[in-house]
Amino acid sequence: MTTIEKDPGTNGAAAAKTSAAPLLEVRNLHVEFKTDEGIAKAVNGVSYSVGAGETLAVLGESGSGKSVTAQAIMGILDMPPGRIPQGEILFKGQDILKLSGEERRKMRGAKMAMIFQDALSALNPVHSVGTQIGEMFRVHRGMSKKDAKAKAVELMDRVRIPAAKARVGDYPHQFSGGMRQRIMIAMALALEPDLIIADEPTTALDVTVQAQVMDLLAELQREMNMGLILITHDLGVVADVADKIAVMYAGRIVETAPVHEIYKRPAHPYTRGLLSSIPRLDQKGQDLYAIKGLPPNLLAIPSGCAFRPRCASAQSVCGEEVPALEQVTERDGTDLAGRGSACHFWKETIHG
Ligand code: ADP
Ligand code: MG
Repeated sequence: MTTIEKDPGTNGAAAAKTSAAPLLEVRNLHVEFKTDEGIAKAVNGVSYSVGAGETLAVLGESGSGKSVTAQAIMGILDMPPGRIPQGEILFKGQDILKLSGEERRKMRGAKMAMIFQDALSALNPVHSVGTQIGEMFRVHRGMSKKDAKAKAVELMDRVRIPAAKARVGDYPHQFSGGMRQRIMIAMALALEPDLIIADEPTTALDVTVQAQVMDLLAELQREMNMGLILITHDLGVVADVADKIAVMYAGRIVETAPVHEIYKRPAHPYTRGLLSSIPRLDQKGQDLYAIKGLPPNLLAIPSGCAFRPRCASAQSVCGEEVPALEQVTERDGTDLAGRGSACHFWKETIHG
């Protein structure tokens, strides 16, 4: 095994970030579901990684396999009908797919936690928010009711819920959508996990509240040096918070890149389409460009490139060969760090 030596000129934290093995590494993950109509191939060879303190944004239209990948990582896939025929999920170097159900259950909350889109259905309506946050400490840490309640108040303060002490006994429906989402963030962060997966955490909220909740999540992540996988279909949300992006289509990663580069120079026609569908304040009144057509039926993914039927640049090879995720380079052949594209014509796409 090779290790990157610490550069004495850099500070410890930065050096640790570059030399550590990734916190999470998904390798060639496949997930399929048995349905009445046949086998739905929801995830078809996804690989991605996220380090401590790093934010990976996973983008793609509805149905591209973002949530199913997350559920596989968390160990909350419906199995059956779900099945993982192939792949590895390495958490701190250990393949957690090989662990027992009990071992996975212990990791949830303590080592990795998930924030869902819909707090109202994720939270229990018949228990106070204080009880639900406190439950994390009672179950995993064996704390007394009184201590757990004090912890709940502390966490509600930390996610900036006003009058936390007075509201700890309130029920989920007594909070606004934004405040409920903060409560879910509080529960997820309670045990200071190493990894957070936020699955469309702000989609259900008003635009102004979205930004506040996202800022809070990003701030806490930085403070606690957690790895964050942020799932969204909104490229506009990720620009400020993500370090890198993986774009998914039909259960595959079609493009990867450091966040700012993808906005400047997408290397996949699908990403280009997503980028042009971001609403722009300076173009009020204009129609949004949405990508024409629909994602494929996962029971019958087209041959070759799954995006081909919707792609204006498609050639005959696109119907014949599945494009591999290739290293993207400059015109002169130098590698662009962290950049990959699964398009037969990525050179034309990025260099035009
Ligand atoms: P998204 O990218 O929108 O998060 P998902 O990962 O939720 O997409 O879903 C990917 C595909 O997997 C969808 O077509 C969905 O219908 C299918 N799928 C997810 N869960 C199940 C299930 N329990 N049974 C059958 N199909 C499922
Ligand atoms: Mg989803």
